Amino acid sequence: MTLEPLQREFDVIVIGAGAVGENVADRVVQGGLTAVLIEAELVGGECSYWACMPSKALLRPGTALHGAQSVPGAAEAVTLTLDAAAVLKRRDYFTANWQDDSQVKWLEDTGIELIRGHGWITAPRTVEVAGLDGNTYGLKARHAVVLATGSTPTTPPIDGLADLQVWGTREATSAREVPERLAVIGGASRAASWRRPSHAWAQT
Ligand SMILES: Cc1cc2nc3c(=O)[nH]c(=O)nc-3n(C[C@H](O)[C@H](O)[C@H](O)COP(=O)(O)OP(=O)(O)OC[C@H]3O[C@@H](n4cnc5c(N)ncnc54)[C@H](O)[C@@H]3O)c2cc1C
Repeated sequence: MTLEPLQREFDVIVIGAGAVGENVADRVVQGGLTAVLIEAELVGGECSYWACMPSKALLRPGTALHGAQSVPGAAEAVTLTLDAAAVLKRRDYFTANWQDDSQVKWLEDTGIELIRGHGWITAPRTVEVAGLDGNTYGLKARHAVVLATGSTPTTPPIDGLADLQVWGTREATSAREVPERLAVIGGASRAASWRRPSHAWAQT
């Protein structure tokens, strides 16, 4: 038996509850309209759990240590180097151990509805969601559907890379232990971010 999708109607449907989707939905409800967020993973998206937040949490201890080591008078007081386990624990704190309860609470307080699942557009202003709860949702937007689905890293076509253990930003920001060796490919800001923790880790 095929179940009928659960039909719902909202002013705006936002697919993807990362920083962009959250902000769009917030502005929608502030303007007096109704909004629903569709999220397949964690409310908060990459920034909260695999990008901005954990990367800065990992960077800060090394930066602070380097700062102290650069100042005569303070440098002499620094007798030990980074405590890698403490650095990772601090990162876990900033990602709330990859639990999105506080961000879900914010949605509830703000009046934004959340449907957890994969969404896709099936017709103009029409979205279907394969809910993580097992339900299928058929959604209609009175005004607009917003695609805020972010991006994913791609692996560059480099000979031999497929035979190695390759980290994207997710693996790097959620690492559970310090790698013995790490090669960073790319010189843009996200890759450059890894030079300092890698360098600091190398000293541990
Ligand atoms: C290491 C690193 C550090 C960074 N540091 C900073 C920083 O300090 N400051 C800064 O401004 N930016 C930073 N960025 C960039 C920032 O993380 C991104 O710009 C931001 O996360 C993009 O947000 P988004 O909402 O567009 O996408 P995302 O955060 O990727 O959110 C998209 C969401 O959509 C969901 N989704 C996708 N497809 C579907 C679907 N079909 N159905 C349901 N859900 C779906 C995904 O699960 C995801 O949660 C950093 C990025 C990296 C990698």
